[in-house]
Amino acid sequence: MNKKVLILSAHPDDAVTCMGGTICKLIAEGNSVSVFAFGNGDEDYDEPGGSEAAVVRYKENTAKAYDILGCSLECLWLPDFEDFQTRELYRECIKAIRKYQPDIVFAHWWAEYFQHTTMATISRDAWNQSRWFCSGDLGKPWTPAKYYHFSGADGVKEITHIVDITPYIERKLAAHRAFAFRFFDKENDDAENVRKRNAYEGSLIGVDYAETFQRSFYFPEAVTTSETLF
Ligand SMILES: [Zn+2]
Repeated sequence: MNKKVLILSAHPDDAVTCMGGTICKLIAEGNSVSVFAFGNGDEDYDEPGGSEAAVVRYKENTAKAYDILGCSLECLWLPDFEDFQTRELYRECIKAIRKYQPDIVFAHWWAEYFQHTTMATISRDAWNQSRWFCSGDLGKPWTPAKYYHFSGADGVKEITHIVDITPYIERKLAAHRAFAFRFFDKENDDAENVRKRNAYEGSLIGVDYAETFQRSFYFPEAVTTSETLF
């Protein structure tokens, strides 16, 4: 298809966990996928004093995961738990949309915790505003045609799109495993939880594994011929 896709991700792992299978599918079908992310994983440690090593480990794991998916990444490596709802980061989102000039954009839904909900807001607003004739230092106005929220652990509110990722599930889980997350159980990695979520999402359309999305109409679709309505 040769289309351009941009994913705005609070942390590099979010894009992998929430839509890694869709990333593989988009690439396999001839599209280019870029991820623009913010966080550096400095809170991913459970023994006092482990923050610095956590960042080193997180960067290494991120590189492995993105190698597995075959997807490009640009990350600002800001601290986890930092307030993302700032003028600077809003401008970074607009700049990224204008730089990558994507046909479609994916980003968070308002769920899980404050950095993800913040990204849901500033990404969606940047999608709307990147097309305005404003903020000339951030690049020329650009209008991505469509915008989708991906499902995190909590899922989007109303699913509008379910992507069959069955052929890509093992590659996605391998990428997720590269992060070695132990969110809920120190003995077992989180990949099997993700597999169960994707199996449930697949059951909604009768396939083995899927990922779910909610298309945004915050910036409404223009109807030039009535065909668009069908
Ligand atoms: Zn995150």
